[in-house]
Amino acid sequence: MHYRVIIIGSGPAGFTAALYAARADLDPLVLEGMQPGGQLTITTDVENYPGFPEGIMGPEMMDKFRDQAKRFGAECLYKTVTAVDFSSSPFRVDAEGTVYTADAVIVATGASARLLGIESETRLMGHGVSACATCDGFFFRDKELVIVGGGDSAMEEATFLTKFASKVSIVNRRSEFRASKIMLQRAQENPKIDFITPAVVEEILSPNGELAVSGVRLKNPENGETRVHPCGGVFMAIGHVPNTKLFKGILDMDENGYIITKSDSTATNVPGVFVAGDAQDHVYRQAVTAAGTGCMAAIESERFLSH
Ligand code: NDP
Repeated sequence: MHYRVIIIGSGPAGFTAALYAARADLDPLVLEGMQPGGQLTITTDVENYPGFPEGIMGPEMMDKFRDQAKRFGAECLYKTVTAVDFSSSPFRVDAEGTVYTADAVIVATGASARLLGIESETRLMGHGVSACATCDGFFFRDKELVIVGGGDSAMEEATFLTKFASKVSIVNRRSEFRASKIMLQRAQENPKIDFITPAVVEEILSPNGELAVSGVRLKNPENGETRVHPCGGVFMAIGHVPNTKLFKGILDMDENGYIITKSDSTATNVPGVFVAGDAQDHVYRQAVTAAGTGCMAAIESERFLSH
C-alpha cells in the first residue's frame, strides 16, 4: 500500500501531524505502535494542556486527538513498525510483516522511561516495581516505598507518592541532586520523605521468590558497602530514553539517541523524513510542544511533497 505520508507513532506529536496532514489532503497513515496514544495514556490528570481549564484525563485526551485526526481522513492502524528503509524513494515502512510505502515519513515515536536494566527489575515490573508513580501509586497504600533518581521527576513523584505511602525514600546515585532547588526543597520539607545517598540499587528483593517486593540491596558507590533496605515497592524515576533504535544508522542522532533536526525545522538528514515530539526533544518533553512540532512536521512534509 502506498501513502503520501506515513506517521510512525501516536502521541500528541503523531496525531497532530496526522490532523494537519489530513487537512492538507495528504490522506496520512498513522502506525500507532506498541503504546497507542503514547505516554499520556499512562498518566492521570493533564492540567497543563491549554484549552482544558478543568484538566482532562490523559487517555481521554489522546482519544480526542485520534478522533480529530480521523475526522479529516487520517487512517490509524494499531500496528508496530519493525523496520524502515529510507535509502530510496518511496520510503519503505515494515509494520509486522506488511510493507507500506510513502513519499514522506514523520517519525513521532516518543520516549519511554529509562530503567536500571537489572534482572530483578524486569522480573518484578508490575509486581511491586513501577516506572509510573501517577499510574500505580494508588496500589501502595500505607507501604514504605523507594524511589530511584535525583531529578525533578523523582522529587515530584516522591511527593505524589506520600499521598498513599507511609514513607518514601529517595535513592540517588550521587549526593548532589539534578533536581531544581524548589522541587528538591519541597521534597526535603515533606516529613514522609527521606534521602539515601550516594546509593545504587544492586538488586530488588522479593520474599522467597514470590512476585512481590520486600526490599532493595543498596551499594554505596564511594566505599562499596552494601546493605538491605526493606520496602514494599520501588519506583523508577531516572529519566527517559527516546524510542529511536529503529532508525540507528539511518537518521542522525546525538549520543543519547535523540534524532537531530535542522535548526528551526523538523527535517532530518534524509530529505522527506521529518521527526516530531520526544524522539527529538529532550528539553521540553511536553504534550503541547510535541503537538507543536507535529504540526511543523506536517507543514514541512506538505511543502516537501509539493516540490
Ligand atoms: P533527569 O534526566 O533530569 O534526571 C534523571 C535522574 O536519574 C538523575 O538524578 C540521574 O542521576 C539519575 N539516573 C539516570 N540514570 C541512572 C541510572 N542508570 N541509575 C541511577 N540513577 C540514574 O530526568 P527527570 O525525568 O527527572 O526530568 C527530565 C526533565 O523533565 C527535566 O528537564 C526536568 O526538569 C523536567 N521535569 C520537570 C518537572 C516540573 O517542573 N514539574 C517534573 C518532572 C520533570 P545523575 O544526576 O547522576 O545523572
